[in-house]
Amino acid sequence: MRLVRFLVGEQVRYGLVEGDRVQELLRPFWEGLAPMRTTHALADLAVLAPVRPAKMLCVGLNYRDHAEEMGKPIPDEPVLFMKPTTALLGPGAPIVCPKSAGRVDYEAELAIVIRRRCRNVAPEDADAVILGYTCFNDVTARDLQTKDGQWTRAKSFDTFGVLGPWIETDVGDPNRLAVTCRVNGRVRQQSSTDQLAFDCHSLVSWCSRVMTLEPGDVIATGTPSGIGPMQPGDAVEVEVERIGVLSNPVVAEREKGAKAVRIV
Ligand code: MG
Repeated sequence: MRLVRFLVGEQVRYGLVEGDRVQELLRPFWEGLAPMRTTHALADLAVLAPVRPAKMLCVGLNYRDHAEEMGKPIPDEPVLFMKPTTALLGPGAPIVCPKSAGRVDYEAELAIVIRRRCRNVAPEDADAVILGYTCFNDVTARDLQTKDGQWTRAKSFDTFGVLGPWIETDVGDPNRLAVTCRVNGRVRQQSSTDQLAFDCHSLVSWCSRVMTLEPGDVIATGTPSGIGPMQPGDAVEVEVERIGVLSNPVVAEREKGAKAVRIV
């Protein structure tokens, strides 16, 4: 199943994607599937990030080839950091390059979406707490990541947590999915989640031993090698096999008129 979140007027709605149509749901996915009669053409919908997570957990240096290009060893435990919900961005919406950042990079990733509140989950029980999977672009101000010595500012600008286009509940083996990033149609990253140092089930288990996970929480599994910068005017796509393509334009921050972000 493909689970999508969208706007009708000012109201947030949930739906099930079936071909080019979306069947509306009575309530959010994690409260149980309750399909209604109303359907919409997918192409006509204002599609949002598929969840508004309480937290976006991200894992750094989780692909062997990416750790190598960063000149770092694979850590013996996952390197965990967080993005604020205010960084959330859905499919099609513009990624904003901040004036204070020199280099803004794409990072194509597979993201796990949590189904229910949980703590201390064993890896073999992780499937029971996973709602599904989606694409993630862990947008990063690379020069600020180096300058600050830790990652909060570099990873947390508004629009730097790009999620979507929907949650796929049936991906087969999540630890064997092709992950691709394209900028203006040119392939920049191409790998597979079979290269993950810590696989999806280990990550859910490990994160749940650190903190309680809640419905809609996201765990981004890390990016493969091939990271690089984006420029205003570029179009960036993250594709994960069996899920779909997350596409966004890239724009420059305007001189004036930047408003507080409105997250829906
Ligand atoms: Mg990343």
